[in-house]
Amino acid sequence: MSIPLVDLGSMHAELHQQIEEAWRRTRSSDQFIGGRAVEDFETQWAKYCGTRYCIGVSSGTAALELTLAALKIGPGDEVVVPTCTFIATAAAVASLGAQPVFVDVAPATLLMTAESLKEAITSRTAAVIVVHLYGQPANMDAINKVAADAGIYVIEDAAQAHGASWDGKKAGSLSHAGCFSFYPAKNLGAFGDAGAVVTDDAGLASRIRAASNHGRREDDQYRHDVVGTNGRLDALQAAILSVKLARLDEWNEQRRSAMEAYATALAEAPVEFIAISPRARSAYHLAVIQTPHRAEVRRALTDENIATGIHYPIPCHLQAPFVNTGNPRLPVAERATERILSLPLFPHLTCEQIRRIADVTCRTLLDCQPELGRVA
Ligand SMILES: *Cc1c(COP(=O)(O)O)cnc(C)c1O
Repeated sequence: MSIPLVDLGSMHAELHQQIEEAWRRTRSSDQFIGGRAVEDFETQWAKYCGTRYCIGVSSGTAALELTLAALKIGPGDEVVVPTCTFIATAAAVASLGAQPVFVDVAPATLLMTAESLKEAITSRTAAVIVVHLYGQPANMDAINKVAADAGIYVIEDAAQAHGASWDGKKAGSLSHAGCFSFYPAKNLGAFGDAGAVVTDDAGLASRIRAASNHGRREDDQYRHDVVGTNGRLDALQAAILSVKLARLDEWNEQRRSAMEAYATALAEAPVEFIAISPRARSAYHLAVIQTPHRAEVRRALTDENIATGIHYPIPCHLQAPFVNTGNPRLPVAERATERILSLPLFPHLTCEQIRRIADVTCRTLLDCQPELGRVA
């Protein structure tokens, strides 16, 4: 039996009736752009995140671009970005004509730190985008303090951290604006592309809303005060997201149990897990281990029809658009990139599947390092 990296089918099977009903309701409403379904989801997502405003948008990338643009970030500005992230974090900065300045990450968490932010700040720095990688919020108190001292904006890329929290406060509510993706494989995923921005800043919220909808005024749909784009959230996606949101906490809890089962099953194996701060509650988006024998483990799992991933195989500062733009070497990220491996993780992953994955992993590592077997 094969084990996928992510299994969306069993999540949707749980909600089959409600999803069918949501599609039917949206279809018969004739409101496919904006309207009740979008407003309902925005209200629920703001409430869930503990923010005053939520603007549904067309993707996580649109959330980042619209937020940066609404903060008037553009040519001549630098934006600090951790190099360990999906390329969209950095590309959003570059697409506005600003320069992403990449910083290294902490070896145990692969998250950016306040110290690395502080070192990267120059007179041109306008903002930092903090990435809650693999579902774990970064140390937002320390980062917010450095940013406040420097007078720069803080944006969270919370695309992997739906429902995660730092000191009990939800990811997305820990900065000027939190950007979410609802790409299907995220912890809260739509049936296509979707995203959102959450914020407590009324002015920022209204600029993002206008920009995502052709620069329209809320009271006059053919009066355009600013140049905008089409970056809206579809009603059908919003309706699906509202249905799935009701299960998010439960599904995150199941992911957490799966991670505990992995930790137990691999306790004797020479692998490192991502360390979780006692102040953080991770959303456990990905089950990442680090091993110097990644290639062997990956091959053995593939041979057993167990899917794996690498998130991400090239750090952003070494990607083609950025490699020759004067960024320094970032040794922690570069080393981690050679060692990280994502094991299957989804709410319905069973203990039996985890045992199988762990057995293959342990067996392979023992073959790579036979001395471990002798000690044990
Ligand atoms: C998925 C993701 C994005 C991009 O979201 P899209 O909805 O695919 O545009 C951005 N940043 C991170 C960290 C992500 O994981």
